[in-house]
Amino acid sequence: MIAYQFPVEVHSHTIHSDGQFTVKELVESAVSFGYKGLILTDHNTSAGYLEMPAVPAVKDRELVTLHGIEWTTYFGHMLVHDADYDVDWREATPNTIDKYMAEVQVANGLIGIAHPFDMGSPICTGCHWDYQVQDYNHVNYIEIWNSNQPQEKSESILSYEFWLDKLTKGYEISCSAGRDWHRPDTDDANMGVTYLELTEEKLTQSNFKDALRNGRYYVTLGPVVQFNIENKNLLFLMGDRVHHSMLESGLVSVTLKPTELEALKAFSVENCSLTLWNNDQLIYQSEEVQDVSQEMSWNCTLPDAIEPGYFRFEIRGDFRGTKDTLIVVGNPIYLRK
Ligand SMILES: [Zn+2]
Ligand SMILES: [Zn+2]
Repeated sequence: MIAYQFPVEVHSHTIHSDGQFTVKELVESAVSFGYKGLILTDHNTSAGYLEMPAVPAVKDRELVTLHGIEWTTYFGHMLVHDADYDVDWREATPNTIDKYMAEVQVANGLIGIAHPFDMGSPICTGCHWDYQVQDYNHVNYIEIWNSNQPQEKSESILSYEFWLDKLTKGYEISCSAGRDWHRPDTDDANMGVTYLELTEEKLTQSNFKDALRNGRYYVTLGPVVQFNIENKNLLFLMGDRVHHSMLESGLVSVTLKPTELEALKAFSVENCSLTLWNNDQLIYQSEEVQDVSQEMSWNCTLPDAIEPGYFRFEIRGDFRGTKDTLIVVGNPIYLRK
């Protein structure tokens, strides 16, 4: 089975808010980093998007872009991706946020909670997520990794646990990585990358949005992963919604390749192991593979009983010399009753 991998960035800024890049500079930096897709999410404005089509890499479809904005409020930062029009966020309060999220959905927008556990006031007013969401079905993704060196931040662990808690409660919510890209980075910066896994060979605005909506992606500190489950002559990928019995006794295949992104090649990845989760139950843990400098793969057969809920994978290992680091987090396959 061939699936295609597309690194994308879904959280970025320009001089239209507090970033240092012009739109053209951001696009050029994205192309040179190796991204295939980009969403500009300036604070409370999408003005920069109007400049996108004139930038050669966008015009030539070397980089696929979607409209976006980061609602930047006193009670939290929220990414709104590819809405047909900008919904007014100014009256949103902690107890009325659901109404505004519903309006974004009417406008065909996708919703991501940005850096939910960043320090709030007085360090960064509004950066901490204080909205009291009643119905998390409104939310498409939770940014579990934000900015650079996400693996070193306690906020990442809290965000990851926040995401798992929502999955356990039955919400179909993806985890995303947002570079929250404001300026050129130094050489020692590493960042999480959102990687789409698609069956289509070419990234388009439409399959980019569809992948974000359905959770057809994983987040990684660099390595590229091909993940699928084969069963009864059918193939399943991240973001699929299937009856739980469809995965029973299925064959899981996870291929791990070193990063293809030049800026991340300097950071060592070693001693990796794979875990598979059916809801919060660990159902498989691989041996540790010391040398992952070449492509390698894990294959295993799933148990003959898989519970309704979700199924997902993770890869941990040593990253930049730090042991037991979360290196790849896959989004779930959702298992229906
Ligand atoms: Zn923010
Ligand atoms: Zn931001």
